[in-house]
Amino acid sequence: MISVTEQKPLEEILQSLDKCQAVYLVGCGTCTTMLHTGGKAEVLEMKDKLEAAGKKIAGWMVIPTACDEVSKYALQENDQEIEAADCLLVMSCAYGVQNVSQWTDKPALPAVNTLFIGAEYTPGEFSEVCRQCGDCVLAWTGGICPVTACAKGLLNGPCGGTNEGKCEVDPEKDCAWTLIYNRLEKQGRLDLFEKEQAPKNYQAVVRPGKITVK
Ligand code: SF4
Ligand code: SF4
Repeated sequence: MISVTEQKPLEEILQSLDKCQAVYLVGCGTCTTMLHTGGKAEVLEMKDKLEAAGKKIAGWMVIPTACDEVSKYALQENDQEIEAADCLLVMSCAYGVQNVSQWTDKPALPAVNTLFIGAEYTPGEFSEVCRQCGDCVLAWTGGICPVTACAKGLLNGPCGGTNEGKCEVDPEKDCAWTLIYNRLEKQGRLDLFEKEQAPKNYQAVVRPGKITVK
């Protein structure tokens, strides 16, 4: 599983850096490196772009995993360069940005948008598989999530627009409910397809989610 991200437009990044003349760049050696949105190559590319826009780069680093505890130590090791910066531009997912923000008094600004937590079934192709709704229906749907994989999030599908196994919203994508039908048929459980699902409780998890494990 991986945090799937895309880089923000440079114009938006420059707007967020409006009050920062000296910038310290932080990349992540895990998810954004895999997605080519915040690894070493993209950090150096961003350095060039910001310098061309008149910013001073106080320094840069790529934290092995920006969303875990190691961020604290990586920031401590580079505290002199960070001290010389007005802000940090963090090229990791939002988890990493929030983590880095905890360990510095400087503003830590996001350079990427976090889209979803995805799985890589085919090399280089990332798919969202779960929206963490807190009320899982996979038992009835052959292990394929309609909340996530159906463009309309239908619990009782398919809709009238499914066309030769493709989704009417995005013909490039498979219709989730056709996949569910095929899977249940293969499992000899097509009776589940007839079962009407009651409206879903989309507030099963009170946000922000928090749980204590004893
Ligand atoms: S129903 Fe879908 S979104 Fe909800 S927990 Fe199960 S897989 Fe995740
Ligand atoms: S075509 Fe299939 S995946 Fe697309 S919205 Fe309709 S039921 Fe959902």
